[in-house]
Amino acid sequence: MVFDRTNLDRFPRDPGVYIMKDQAGEVIYVGKANNLRNRVKQYFGQTSDTRFFVSLLDDYLNDIDLIITANAKEALILENELIKRHQPRFNVNLKDDKNFLHLRIDSSSKWPKIDVVRSPRRDGALYFGPYHSASKIRQTLKLIEQYFGLRNCDDLTFRNRARPCLQYQIKRCPGPCVLPVDHRTYDNHVQDVIRFLQGREDELVRSLKGKMEHASQALDYENAARYRDQLRAILGSLEDQNMVQIRQLDQDVFGLYREGASLQVSILFVRRGKMVGSRTFDFMEHGIPDSELLSTFVNLYYNSGAAMPDEILIPVTVSNFEVVEAYVSELKGRRVRLKVPQRGANKRLLETANKNAEHAYFQARRDLSARDGGLVRLKEKLHLKNVPHHIECFDISLFQGTEPVASCVAFEGGSPKRSRYRHYKIKTVEGTDDYGMMREVLTRRLKSGLIKADLPQLIVVDGGKGQLNVARAVLQDLKIDGLDVVSLAKARIIDGINDADGGVLKTSERVFIPGVREPISLRSNTHEYFLMTQIRDEAHRFAINFHRKRRIDRNFRSVLDDIPGIGPGRRKTLLRHFGSLKAIKSASSDSISELKGFSSTLAQTIVHHLKTQDGQ
Ligand code: SF4
Repeated sequence: MVFDRTNLDRFPRDPGVYIMKDQAGEVIYVGKANNLRNRVKQYFGQTSDTRFFVSLLDDYLNDIDLIITANAKEALILENELIKRHQPRFNVNLKDDKNFLHLRIDSSSKWPKIDVVRSPRRDGALYFGPYHSASKIRQTLKLIEQYFGLRNCDDLTFRNRARPCLQYQIKRCPGPCVLPVDHRTYDNHVQDVIRFLQGREDELVRSLKGKMEHASQALDYENAARYRDQLRAILGSLEDQNMVQIRQLDQDVFGLYREGASLQVSILFVRRGKMVGSRTFDFMEHGIPDSELLSTFVNLYYNSGAAMPDEILIPVTVSNFEVVEAYVSELKGRRVRLKVPQRGANKRLLETANKNAEHAYFQARRDLSARDGGLVRLKEKLHLKNVPHHIECFDISLFQGTEPVASCVAFEGGSPKRSRYRHYKIKTVEGTDDYGMMREVLTRRLKSGLIKADLPQLIVVDGGKGQLNVARAVLQDLKIDGLDVVSLAKARIIDGINDADGGVLKTSERVFIPGVREPISLRSNTHEYFLMTQIRDEAHRFAINFHRKRRIDRNFRSVLDDIPGIGPGRRKTLLRHFGSLKAIKSASSDSISELKGFSSTLAQTIVHHLKTQDGQ
C-alpha cells in the first residue's frame, strides 16, 4: 500500500508537524514545517533531498498525519516531543530538551532576577521559552537588562554586596542589594518584563506610555526619554518574543469545528507548556448543540481512562459546567479546572485547537468523498454491476504445505471493517491444492451469507484467472446471481528489461474480470489502485498472521503434548505466560511452578522433559 498523494494540494499552509506512518500505523518519520503543504510536497516528485529514507518512502509511507501549531517555534518543540515519544526509525538525530533554553523569573523572590536555564522545573517560578538559539536568548536578555532594570547578580552576591556593582553605574539596575529601592517600582519592572516575554503588546505599551507621561509631567525628562527609548526598542523586538510561558500545568485543549450537523473535535495535549500531541474525533450528522455534545464528550472521554490534565480548556461554556468540573476532578482525585479562555495564551491555544479541528474535518470529508468517488470509478473501471460499498477479499496462506488457512477481510465504504474479518482453517483439502482451498472457503462464506442474507457486493480473490474461475464456479453452484467477482494478481517483474535507472521493471497490478481474456491494469496513483492493493495487502497480512499463530501453536503442541500432565489448558497458560517455546525452555522449574495449576513436581517434569528433548 502506498501513500495517496492526491490530497497533498489540500494540505494547510500553516506551520506544524507532519507525522509519516507506515502500513501498520507505526510512525516512521516526524518533521516540522513553516508551511506544511510546501514542505510535504517536497518529498514527492523531483526532490533534491538526498537523505536515504526519502527514496524509501514509496515503499513504506502509508499515511501522513498533520498537527497545526500556532507558529514555527511551537512546531519545533512538538517535533522534538514526538520524536522522543515515537522514536521513528527515520529520525536519526534525536534532539532532547538540552537543545532548548528558557528564561526563569522567580517572582516569589523579593527582588526577582532573570536567569537562563535549560529545563523548567516545578518550583513555582515563571519560565519562558523555549529559545532554540543562544544568540536569540542573549539578544532578549540584553534588551531586558538595558531597558527593564532588573538585577542580574546571583543571590549570594546580592546578599553580600557592600555597594552596588557596575550594573548600577551604567543604569541597568537600581541597586536593591544595598540601596533603598522602592519595591513597588521594582515590581512594576518585573511585571513589564513578564508582559514583554508573553508578547502582551497592548498592556506593555500602555504601561510604558503611562510611565513616560508621568515622568514628563513631573518634569523628569531624563526618565521620560528613557521610557521613550525603551518603548521604541521593545516594540521593535516584541514580534520576536511572544514566548510561551512554561506553565507548571498539564492542559487538554478542546477545539471544535462545525458545519451543519457535522462536528469535529480536536484535543491538543499540552504538558508543562509544551504541546506534545493531538487527537481528533468525528461526529457526523449530529444535530446536538456544541455545548451539550462537549459536556457529554468530556465526561465520556475522561471516563474511558484518558490521562487527566490539571486544566481543561473548552471553546464554549457547557450548560452543566460545575457538574462536569466536579466529575472530572473526582476522576483525577484532585481539582481539575474547566475553563473557557477569553484572552491570552490559553485563548491562543484554543484557536490552534480549533484550527486542527477544522483541518481534520475537511481531511475526513475529502477522504470520504475520495473513497466514494474511488468506489464509483472502481465500478466503471472493472465493469461491475454494483458500486462496491461492501467488498470482501480472500487469500490462502500455507507455509511448506502445512497448516493451510484462509483469510477474509471486509471493506465497507472503502475502509476496513475489522469486525467482519474472518479466518478459516482449511478442513477438506489436503496438500497444496490452492484452488480447492479457495473453493472450500468461498463456499463456506457464501453459504452462511445466503442463510443470513449477508453478502458483499464484490468478492476479490487473490490470484489470477484460475482463482477467478473457482470463485465463479462457487457462485454458480450456489445459484448466487448479481454479485461481482474479480481476481487481483500481483505486479510481475518483466524479465530482461530494466527501467531508466537500471531498476527492475514491473507490470502494473492486474485485475481479471469474468468473461474478459486480458486483465485490466490498474494505474498507480489512482484511487482504484490504492483501494484494491490495500484490500489485497490487508488480506495477505491477516492470513499470514493467523498462519504464524497456528504454526507457533502447533510447535507448542508437538513439543509439550508428550509431557505427562500437560493438556490444552496448561499449554495455553504456558504460552500466555512465557510467549514462546524458547522462553519456556530457558525457564527454571521455580518460575514454572509459580503458575496457577503447576505443582513443583510438574514444573520439574517439564524442565526435565524439555532438556531431554534438546539432548542436554
Ligand atoms: S547593583 Fe546590586 S542588585 Fe544590581 S546587579 Fe549589581 S549587585 Fe546586583
